[in-house]
Amino acid sequence: MVGSTYYDVVVVGGGVAGVAAACAAADAGASVCLLERYGTLGGVATVSGVGTICGLYLRSQRLIAWGCSEFAQTFAERHILSRGASPLRARDGLIFLPYEIPLFHSSLYSELNARKVTVCLHSTVIGAELTAELIVPNNTDSNNTDSNNTVNEKEATQRISVLKLLNWNMPCAVTCNTVIDASGEALIPILLGLPCDCEGVRQAPSLSIGVRGLPLGEDERSLNVVIAHALLSSGFGVQYGSLAVLPGSKRDDHASLKYTLPKPLLLSNFPQHSDLELSARKNVGPLFEALKKIIPQLKNLTQTWVAPQLGFRTGTRPICNESLTAAAVLACQKPANGVAIGSWPIEIWGENARAEFSYFAEEDYFTVPAGALKARDVTNLFFCGRGICGEERAVAASRVIGTAMGTGYAAGLLASR
Ligand SMILES: Cc1cc2nc3c(=O)[nH]c(=O)nc-3n(C[C@H](O)[C@H](O)[C@H](O)COP(=O)(O)OP(=O)(O)OC[C@H]3O[C@@H](n4cnc5c(N)ncnc54)[C@H](O)[C@@H]3O)c2cc1C
Repeated sequence: MVGSTYYDVVVVGGGVAGVAAACAAADAGASVCLLERYGTLGGVATVSGVGTICGLYLRSQRLIAWGCSEFAQTFAERHILSRGASPLRARDGLIFLPYEIPLFHSSLYSELNARKVTVCLHSTVIGAELTAELIVPNNTDSNNTDSNNTVNEKEATQRISVLKLLNWNMPCAVTCNTVIDASGEALIPILLGLPCDCEGVRQAPSLSIGVRGLPLGEDERSLNVVIAHALLSSGFGVQYGSLAVLPGSKRDDHASLKYTLPKPLLLSNFPQHSDLELSARKNVGPLFEALKKIIPQLKNLTQTWVAPQLGFRTGTRPICNESLTAAAVLACQKPANGVAIGSWPIEIWGENARAEFSYFAEEDYFTVPAGALKARDVTNLFFCGRGICGEERAVAASRVIGTAMGTGYAAGLLASR
């Protein structure tokens, strides 16, 4: 339960970005509370069974060099590389780091515990209250006394005063100086009725599935070719979505497969998340039966687990002081107010249930401007992770775990100033 009713910084959402934000705020000396609706941390990275960290390394055919924030690098070194994992190369010089979900999950707890962050699980934020305030703009003449200032010379603005939540179904409230919305879905602006980027096409969701019974000698790429051919020849064309081995997940005869739904998400069809979850789970059974029937080496294929939640890549986004654009990503722009490094290309899962990549130069990176993390309409509200302000194609680059940790840590520092 919430130990105290006041914190300097409250972080809403315990995904990778929220955890990094809470750590940064604690490192900056703030008292911090992290609120998470589930009974577990990691968000998409754990409940949707992701399994690989992208956005840690620069894209390069010749070297392996870090391309992320210090927090993400230290996290990877301390919890993943030190336990024997190593970076793997995928197509076109892309490099990623595979991780075990239980280990990843407990590592997030360790980082928060080490910094004495108050973690409130089973805590769903359901409301927020605004208060109006008048602030004197920075360029106002400092000799101007208060009595000389009219209301017009000051900026009328608003700040969050209270967050309301259900803690294991018990209503309660918390007050704070600043709020970091790490929900990935612009939760706080939605609750406040503020304008959001809530229309248009988002990427197709995917369901992760653990399997056993894969041929021992076969590598992931050739298995994916065999699977794709088998599904096509048994009548499961692109209209059923795609099924492929998650890169870096194959160990002996087991691996994680990723089933991607055939259609992108249309935000105007909201609410549809429940229907998509159910249809993904329903489609997987017939696809597996077809594989077992057609490919002799897969006749013993069995599902060992299915991710608790369908993975939604992006959703509603907030309106901030600045918006990250695809042009800035592709030009590797590094604005003066850049606060987080992005080294992953634009990766879009669209109509045909396959990833389409748009690259920027090898061994280069872009930086996310601070303005894309700071709410336009509320003075004490910040965003991070997959829920920053930006174009869909830009966030398709910045949403990966390495960069989400970077924008999280940056939001934590900004919120503690
Ligand atoms: C299918 C799929 C595959 C991916 N593959 C990769 C990959 O291979 N490598 C990679 O690096 N990235 C990958 N990504 C992207 C990456 O995993 C995510 O973008 C990243 O983990 C997002 O982190 P986040 O903290 O911003 O958001 P989230 O993980 O969405 O965290 C948000 C948190 O907020 C909580 N929350 C929401 N509402 C409330 C509320 N009302 N009250 C309290 N808490 C709330 C949620 O429960 C959640 O824990 C993939 C994503 C998907 C969907």
